[in-house]
Amino acid sequence: MMKQEKGHGVYNVVVIGAGTAGLVTAAGTAGLGGRVALIERNKMGGDCLNFGCVPSKALISSARLIQQIRESEKWGLERQEPQFVFERVFDRMRERRAKIAPNDSQERFESLGVDVFRGEAQFISPHEVEVDEQRLRAKNFVIATGSRPVIPKIEGIGAVPYLTNETIFDELIEKPESMIVLGGGPIGCELGQALNRLGVKVTIVQRGGQLLPREDRDVASFLERRLTGEGVRVIKNTNASSVAKTGDGTIAVQLSDRQSTAQTETRVVADGLLIAIGRTPNFRKLDLQAAGVEVDENGIRVNGFLQTSQPSIYAVGDVIGPFQFTHMADAQARVVVRNLLMPFQFLRQKMDYSVVPWCTYTDPEVAHIGLSEKDGQKNGMAYDLFRVELAEVDRAVVESEDAGFAKILTAKSSGKIIGATIVSPNAGDLLHEFVLAMKAGIGLGIIASTTHAYPTLAELARKAGDKYNKTRLTPAAKRIFAWLYERARK
Ligand SMILES: Cc1cc2nc3c(=O)[nH]c(=O)nc-3n(C[C@H](O)[C@H](O)[C@H](O)COP(=O)(O)OP(=O)(O)OC[C@H]3O[C@@H](n4cnc5c(N)ncnc54)[C@H](O)[C@@H]3O)c2cc1C
Repeated sequence: MMKQEKGHGVYNVVVIGAGTAGLVTAAGTAGLGGRVALIERNKMGGDCLNFGCVPSKALISSARLIQQIRESEKWGLERQEPQFVFERVFDRMRERRAKIAPNDSQERFESLGVDVFRGEAQFISPHEVEVDEQRLRAKNFVIATGSRPVIPKIEGIGAVPYLTNETIFDELIEKPESMIVLGGGPIGCELGQALNRLGVKVTIVQRGGQLLPREDRDVASFLERRLTGEGVRVIKNTNASSVAKTGDGTIAVQLSDRQSTAQTETRVVADGLLIAIGRTPNFRKLDLQAAGVEVDENGIRVNGFLQTSQPSIYAVGDVIGPFQFTHMADAQARVVVRNLLMPFQFLRQKMDYSVVPWCTYTDPEVAHIGLSEKDGQKNGMAYDLFRVELAEVDRAVVESEDAGFAKILTAKSSGKIIGATIVSPNAGDLLHEFVLAMKAGIGLGIIASTTHAYPTLAELARKAGDKYNKTRLTPAAKRIFAWLYERARK
C-alpha cells in the first residue's frame, strides 16, 4: 500500500501531546500498523523527561551521595564536608536527561512511522484538528495534553520571580542561599530535600497538617523528622497569603496560620521561591467545545474505557488523572491502544485502578500500594496490620540504613494483601513484590514461604510474612505441636 503524504488523508489516530501518555499511544498504534499523527507544542517527552521524573531523580541521586559523604562517619570514615559545585550537579542532571531523550525524540517516532507535527493543536470539529495552519483528519483522537503547575492566586505573585518544575531544571543557573518551597507534597518534599542537601537553606510551607497528605500520619511524621534532622524547616497548617520582593532582592512570603495555635511566624524570607502546590490539567486551548467534548469543574470527563463524551475522542494521562504518574499515563495509554483497535464497545477494555503503586523519591523513599491504614479506618474496614522495622533487616543494619519500616495490611484473619507502605532506601523497588502479589492474588503466607536471598532488603517482605504466619499459630495448633514433640521424645 502507498504511504499517504504527511498531513493528508485520514489518520486512524491523531494524538495530541507527546508526553508519556501520547508517546505510548502513538508508538503502540503505529506498531500495530495504524496511521498515526502526533502533535506536540513544546518538547518531545513532556513533563516526565523534561521537567519531572527524569531531572528530579538525577538531582536526587547526586544529593544522596553528597549527604552520604556528609554523614561519612556512619560508615566508619573520617568526618568530611562534600566538595561539589552546585552548577556542575545541575549540568550532570541535564547530561543524564539528554542520554534518555532520544527515546522520546521526533526522529525516533518518525522512524516508527508516526507523522510528528510541532505546534499547538486545536479542534475544528469532532473529526478535525488544526496545527500550525494545517488541518488533520482522523477517525479517532487521543487527548494526552498533561498538566501544569498550579500557581496560587495570592497577592504579589505576578511581581516576584518564582520557579516551578517547568523552570527549575534549566533556569536555576546559580545556587541560591535559601529557598522557600510552597507545597509539601511529593514534588515539594523531593526537591526540598535535594536542594537542602545541595547546600540551599530550604523552608517547606505546607497548607495541611502533614507532609505527603496521601500517606499515613506516622509515615509523614517519619519523613518530616528526617527532613528537619537534615536542616529543612517545615512549616505546616499555613497558607501563603501574599508575596513581595524585599529591598535586598530576596522574596518575602507572608504566612497566615490555618490553626491559630500551630505557628507563630508570620513571614519567611528567602533568595528563591519554588511553587509545588499541585498540578492542573491542560485542556483550555484545545477548543473542546468544537469537538463536542464535555468538560466539568474537574476537567475532561471520561468513562471506564477512557472515552470522553465524544466516544471517538479518548483522553489519557495527567489531563484526566485520577493519578498523575508516568506509569499511570503509560497504563492508560496501553488500554487506549487496544480500545482504538476494537470495532465494538463490548470488545473494549475498562481501565483497572485496583493495583496502582506510587513512590516518593525522598531519602528514604516512601512507596505505597493499595489501602493505607488511614483508608482502612475511614472505610471502617476490618484488617490486620503487620509492621516490620528496617532495624530487623540485617542488610539495612550493615548498610547503616536501618531507619524505616514497612506496614502491610491484610484482609482480617487472612493473608490477602490489601495495602503496603514501605519507608526505606529503594522502597520503590521493594514495593513490587507486593504489587505483583496483589495483582496475582498471592498472600503473605506464600511470601513467607518464598526463599529470599540473604542479606537483602527484600527480606522485609518475608519478615512481614513470618509475622503473619505467627498469627496463624493458634493455641490449639500449638498444643498439637507440643504433643507431637513430646511423643517424638519418648
Ligand atoms: C517534578 C516532577 C516529578 C515527577 N516525578 C515523577 C516520578 O518520579 N514518577 C512518576 O510516575 N511521575 C512523576 N511525575 C509525574 C509525571 O511527570 C506525569 O504524570 C507524566 O509526565 C504525565 O504524562 P502525560 O503524557 O499525561 O503528560 P505530559 O508529560 O505533561 O505531556 C503532555 C504534553 O502535551 C503537550 N501539550 C499540551 N497541550 C497541547 C496542545 N494543545 N497541543 C499540542 N501539545 C500540547 C505538552 O507540551 C506536553 O509535552 C513527576 C512530575 C513532576 C512535575
